[in-house]
Amino acid sequence: MKHMIRHGLSVSIAALLLASGSAHAVDTAASAVPVAAPAKAGCANGQVRLDTNFPTAAAARCETLGKHELAVTLTPEDAPPINCSAWYAFRLTPQPGVKRGQRVTITLNYTACGHRYWPKVSEDGVRWTHLPAKDVTLFENNGIKQAQLRIQMGAGPLFVAGQEIIAPSTNDHWLAEKARHPDARLSILGRSAEGRSIQQLTITSAPTPPREQVVLVGRQHPPEITGAQAMLAFVDTILSDEPIATAYRARFSTIVVPMLNPDGVARGHWRHAIGGLDLNRDWGPFTQAETRLIQGLLKEIADDPARTLRLFLDFHSTRKDVFYTLPDATITDPPRFAADWLARYQDRMPGYHVERDSSHNPGLPTAKSWVYETYGVPTATFEIGDDTDRALIARIGRESALAMMETMLATPAP
Ligand SMILES: [Zn+2]
Repeated sequence: MKHMIRHGLSVSIAALLLASGSAHAVDTAASAVPVAAPAKAGCANGQVRLDTNFPTAAAARCETLGKHELAVTLTPEDAPPINCSAWYAFRLTPQPGVKRGQRVTITLNYTACGHRYWPKVSEDGVRWTHLPAKDVTLFENNGIKQAQLRIQMGAGPLFVAGQEIIAPSTNDHWLAEKARHPDARLSILGRSAEGRSIQQLTITSAPTPPREQVVLVGRQHPPEITGAQAMLAFVDTILSDEPIATAYRARFSTIVVPMLNPDGVARGHWRHAIGGLDLNRDWGPFTQAETRLIQGLLKEIADDPARTLRLFLDFHSTRKDVFYTLPDATITDPPRFAADWLARYQDRMPGYHVERDSSHNPGLPTAKSWVYETYGVPTATFEIGDDTDRALIARIGRESALAMMETMLATPAP
């Protein structure tokens, strides 16, 4: 039985996750080239066993504190300073013979930054629930915010994570589903530093590749799940039967690269790829395999006399919903995209305040700055709050995509 959920992710992903004895069993993205397994932490008490043997898992150390308590040490992949996206993900499995309903206490000990993401649990890796407030205690140790979780076990394994898990395999599965649309074509942009495939979905209904190209990038930062959720809804809408989407697909080609940092995602990193760098500070230097791939993609468009880049959007998460755009006075082609887009989007979102921050830091090696400075096209960073309601995220993705397509259709062709 296939149980469909929001964004078209199906329960078969859960089977992938739950079947995982090893990273390879789950991570279908790690196919052609062997992928080094990150160090895995695990521990057990009389009630449960805690493991991190699945992609996206993160726990540097695990220790048994008693019959009912385990402690997990969470530490970033590289020494601080690092962006404080303190990701965690692990799996709890009841010990044989332990009856369901047992409660276990897990202490999350952060070595840096402190607790950020509200804990979520899932039996199948697809349907997630927030841990109730009464079962989460926050406290400070050496000035760092820590957390203690009280978790009620069911009959089987339970995933515990900072956000819903969207692993490379989840992403691949979603892309494969999208690629069944007659206007979508899946291809491999290239390989990450560790050999994982970085896929791209090209969307257009034009019989020959159209001149106007739109590029969407996501998941430079591994824990930024809410940005990924908005991107899924955004792309679903571009592929929908809405008349705006049909007209847009006939005129534009949209290239979607939803997971630019699969190594960081698979390893459960807080921020970086495996090169010890933030990919979104490498646009310009291009020292990393992943950013070089996207540089190549953009250069290929720029070098092709039959194609023109028209728009670039980069999906992320932060503490609130906000669009980082270029200032309206910036000369771009097409002009004034952000103002027009966000006005249309606001009209579509009664009762919701669209927040925009239009500062621009020249020379900053981020996707938004570099793509604008190199190609003169409108660019924006699409940020979704960590705790934004998930149904609202789906609505944000949908309405902002419809507004984007309306705006682009209103621009004169180059
Ligand atoms: Zn980010």
